[in-house]
Amino acid sequence: MGHTNESEIRLHGINVSPGICIGKAYLVGKEGVDVVDKYFISKDNLENEIKRFKSAVKHAKDKLQEIIKTTPEELRQHIHILETHKILYKDKMLYGKTIETIEKKLVNAEWALKNVVSNVKNMFRNMPDPYLQGRMADIVHVSESIMQNLVGAKTLDIRAIAKRVILVAVDLSPAETSQIQLEKIKGLITDLGGKTSHTGIIARTLEIPAVLGLEKATHLIKNDDIIIVDGTEGIVIVHPTDKTLIQFEERQSNYEIHKAVITRSSHLPAKTTDGIKLEVMGNIELPEEVVSVINYGGDGIGLYRTEFQYLSQLGFPDEHDLFDNYKDVVEVMAPNPVTIRTLDISGDKTVSYASNSDEKNPVLGLRGIRYCLKNPDVFKTQLRAILRASAFGPVRILLPMISCHDEVLAAKKILNKAADSLDKEGILFNDKIEVGIMIEVPSAAIMADVMAKDIDFFSIGTNDLIQYSLAVDRVNTQVAHLYQPLNPAIIRMIKFVADIAKDNDVEVCMCGEMAGDPVNIPILLGLGINNLSMNPQSIPTIKKIIRSLNVKDAALFVKDVLKETTETGILELLFSTYDNFLFDLGYTEL
Ligand code: PEP
Ligand code: MG
Repeated sequence: MGHTNESEIRLHGINVSPGICIGKAYLVGKEGVDVVDKYFISKDNLENEIKRFKSAVKHAKDKLQEIIKTTPEELRQHIHILETHKILYKDKMLYGKTIETIEKKLVNAEWALKNVVSNVKNMFRNMPDPYLQGRMADIVHVSESIMQNLVGAKTLDIRAIAKRVILVAVDLSPAETSQIQLEKIKGLITDLGGKTSHTGIIARTLEIPAVLGLEKATHLIKNDDIIIVDGTEGIVIVHPTDKTLIQFEERQSNYEIHKAVITRSSHLPAKTTDGIKLEVMGNIELPEEVVSVINYGGDGIGLYRTEFQYLSQLGFPDEHDLFDNYKDVVEVMAPNPVTIRTLDISGDKTVSYASNSDEKNPVLGLRGIRYCLKNPDVFKTQLRAILRASAFGPVRILLPMISCHDEVLAAKKILNKAADSLDKEGILFNDKIEVGIMIEVPSAAIMADVMAKDIDFFSIGTNDLIQYSLAVDRVNTQVAHLYQPLNPAIIRMIKFVADIAKDNDVEVCMCGEMAGDPVNIPILLGLGINNLSMNPQSIPTIKKIIRSLNVKDAALFVKDVLKETTETGILELLFSTYDNFLFDLGYTEL
């Protein structure tokens, strides 16, 4: 299969959907969108031009409606994404602004639209947050479909593909991705897009391997080239040698076997060999991800990051919209709990309409709870929505970025006000709702004994806790080697919080990425972490590891770990003590 004179090329991208596939590339392109003419129109033609634009929007929207109607069963849960796109067609920033540009500048609709979209892109450019990039991609997808209608270009029809191929595209919109038929498409790769893009989410649901953000895949790959997509590692290999092919065929079959074994047992409880049960829960950003938490055997939602709903629109969502979303998640997940984290915008997740963009150090700025306490109306609206959802199943509230005791008290005061207002209106909610705080700032860890008196649970957010404790930017690749989850300082900090939690009879959960990495589990068990929350796909593996471990041994092991002074020392100890399960998972070296 791999006979070719061209040499093997390896491309590295973002691993958005795990698994390996090998097959022929099928390049999908969009016509007529890149080149847009500019011409002026006369005042007399203004009305016609606007009509032409409106009609292009209508056609694009109708086409989307048709896609929604014919979406296959396994993707019905994602209709919501397409519905969001439908709303975007009439979005003020896109629809309103384009009409305004046509009127003010007397230019053709294509040019006006192109201008508006490039302004939107510029606005989002300085916001590195992946959610925002994803939302920008939504606007671009919608505008492209309008543009296709304006210039009369052919649209991409993925359903028409007749052979079994791997899709290669600059970008795929959620509407296009949702047309994928599993019996035809083995995997997909794109130049653009990232982990939290909707395309990535859909690929994960379909369980097809996908690597996005490859930058130049469409330049390097031709139709019918043999390619290997490793969605687990985020690698794409073009023109693989026979040796590489054999190697990846073997990996592919190992992966399938491993996945089948793990998934089969994913609904068993995560109980250690000495009978301690941990709740292994899922982290979600979008309501539709609840389904994967359930499919992967999650015991609940340990972290519902609620920023997305604020980032995906152009003004603050109202209580009703928020409530609808939370209620959906709670009802689907019941009787298992849903931990809803209050808004953690600002910092690196800037929301344009709530902007305070000239902060020098946004990560140390007005983010998380700080933002909410400064904007109590925004906070109260969200708290009312969460409380209302608590009438439909077990809900817990989680406060992000707590750095001092005052913040806990102030947040609880607003929560009480929100509860009182619902009470007065006779609206039902759980008046004993549990409230927890994220431990992600070292000062909160140090004050944990004080905090413990006022809250029901801790959730250790290691993504930020590591960043703030070690003074290492979590997204700066220059210092990535210093971002060490198993640094002795981090282990001591977690131990400090876990011990206080135990003394105060407060539950301690971990919801940072550290919780979903198999290597860390013996240490987390030994430290006395009660529950873990992670990306849904990691749940089956982590549950399986927990079932093979013993808390007593893990606690003894942690005693030795605490004597080590470097992360390397800890890793060496870990690999020499737990070589069995680490080897089974495919870890062969440090
Ligand atoms: C964390 O900081 O560990 C966390 C879970 O929150 P986020 O990744 O949303 O900052
Ligand atoms: Mg955080």
